[in-house]
Amino acid sequence: MIHDKLTSTIRLTNFINLEELSILVAIKLQHVSKSYQGPVIEDLNLTIPTQQITALVGPSGSGKSTLLNLIAGLTTPDSGQIWFDEQPIFDADQSLNCPPAKRQLAMVFQDFALWPHMTVHQNIAFAIETHLSKAECRKRVEWALAQVSLADYGQRYPRELSGGQQQRVALARALATQPDLILFDEALSALDPQLRLQLQQDISALVKAHHLTAIFVTHDRQEALRIADNIVLLHAGQVV
Ligand code: ADP
Ligand code: MG
Repeated sequence: MIHDKLTSTIRLTNFINLEELSILVAIKLQHVSKSYQGPVIEDLNLTIPTQQITALVGPSGSGKSTLLNLIAGLTTPDSGQIWFDEQPIFDADQSLNCPPAKRQLAMVFQDFALWPHMTVHQNIAFAIETHLSKAECRKRVEWALAQVSLADYGQRYPRELSGGQQQRVALARALATQPDLILFDEALSALDPQLRLQLQQDISALVKAHHLTAIFVTHDRQEALRIADNIVLLHAGQVV
């Protein structure tokens, strides 16, 4: 059994080709729990549909970021199973834990997380350059910057950009890895309302254009209603 699951996971990762566009992914969590000092996520069962934006809404401290990190593999659940499509990527009982780098996903954070000493081009290339030739990498970065309407900004440093532009760079960096899934953790919360609206539309359009699956964490229900195909309400570590 363990062998079967490992083999299928290996098959999943072999199957992935950076040159191909996305493979359909639906995420399924079964009986997932995570505790720190106390329980944060409790026996959570959830299915995230493929090629849609699912908003994850809930008050501060309700476990939204923890849930994203569990899906990303940055945090290990105490128990339960996580599936991407038919492939188990985490199973506590089988000691199966597919590493984050093999999960074909990208994350976008509220604080952009750009390297200040690198240009926009270097920031994006950093995520992909080990997998690609120099020429392919340059092409991919240019492609990603064009996707977010920043084609001429490659040589700038993050400090030379507005907050909205920096978040576009973070989005381009995510797209450049050609993920199946993008996880947004309060990604627009630091931006002013006008920019937020614009970026909500842009994210929506990009997710649809590239047939991505997205989970969009926000504490703002209006934003969730605007951007999402589905809304999941999290309260005290459970779906309500
Ligand atoms: P949200 O993103 O909904 O605001 P979080 O998932 O960040 O909520 O946090 C949920 C709870 O888990 C909080 O009480 C937080 O203090 C706790 N928590 C999150 N990460 C850790 C950690 N690495 N160590 C200890 N406690 C944590
Ligand atoms: Mg959070």
